Amino acid sequence: MAHHLLILGGTTEARALAAALASGPDVAPAAARAAAPAAARLRVTSSLAGRVAEPRLPAGEVRIGGFGGPDGLAAWLRAEAVDAVVDATHPFAAAMSHNAALAAAATGVPLLALRRPGWTAVDGDRWHRVDSLDAAAALLPALGRRVFLTSGRQGIRAFAHLDGLHFLARSVDAPEPPMPASTEVLLDRGPFTLDGERAVLRAHRIDVVVTKDSGGAATAPKLAAARELGLPVVVVERPPVPSGIPVAEDVPAALDWLTARGLALR
Ligand code: NAP
Repeated sequence: MAHHLLILGGTTEARALAAALASGPDVAPAAARAAAPAAARLRVTSSLAGRVAEPRLPAGEVRIGGFGGPDGLAAWLRAEAVDAVVDATHPFAAAMSHNAALAAAATGVPLLALRRPGWTAVDGDRWHRVDSLDAAAALLPALGRRVFLTSGRQGIRAFAHLDGLHFLARSVDAPEPPMPASTEVLLDRGPFTLDGERAVLRAHRIDVVVTKDSGGAATAPKLAAARELGLPVVVVERPPVPSGIPVAEDVPAALDWLTARGLALR
């Protein structure tokens, strides 16, 4: 019987992992492929929260919506005979990662966290690292008046009380109130380019940028653009991975982990 892998998704890496596993020919030696087609060996289900109206869908089976907390996820893992879980959610999706750790412990299903590394400041960066969106909001008035807010649709409420500042808030779908009185919404989704980000900062006369430490290349150009223009950036630190959960920093490392459990051929 095929093994069953659950990928908790919503990220570039989750889609890349699902694609790598769906396209067995790219990852498996020819002889092994001939003997056992990837689809026959491994069933892959990707799970999305359902937050985005038109999500980019990963390859393979997809389910959408919450599981109903750790107990709901544990029940799903049992009912669907899941052999392993890769938590490839966004580094800031802390509730889902916590639930996955609890469900894995309850069911004994092996769990891996796939987390791209955070960003590192380089010469010329004027970063202010803070531990929460609330701390970012507290710091902002001392840093600027026109804010490029890239912390996502759900994060904007932390800034809602900052009436004296103007916000350019970029998100995939439109944010909902509460939000700051002076907010201009920019609907867009990465990957972004340095030219594009420079143009946004200039056109909107931005003097401070707020970002989560999401890591990855797709949204990093705003950091380079801010560096070029000498702008301060408030960087919100990511929450920790639940203790005891192994971490892979990229898709090849996740494939190694799966291979070691007999779930993917390399
Ligand atoms: P969260 O706060 O950690 O999770 C809240 C609840 O949403 C979870 O308890 C779970 O509901 C459900 N959920 C989250 N991810 C899910 C998934 N992949 N599949 C099924 N249910 C999921 O999550 P979030 O920060 O709102 O992020 C939601 C999704 O957006 C995630 O898939 C994440 O990868 C993606 N995303 C998040 C960010 C960010 O900055 N947070 C950025 C880009 C993409 P139940 O308890 O009912 O199971």
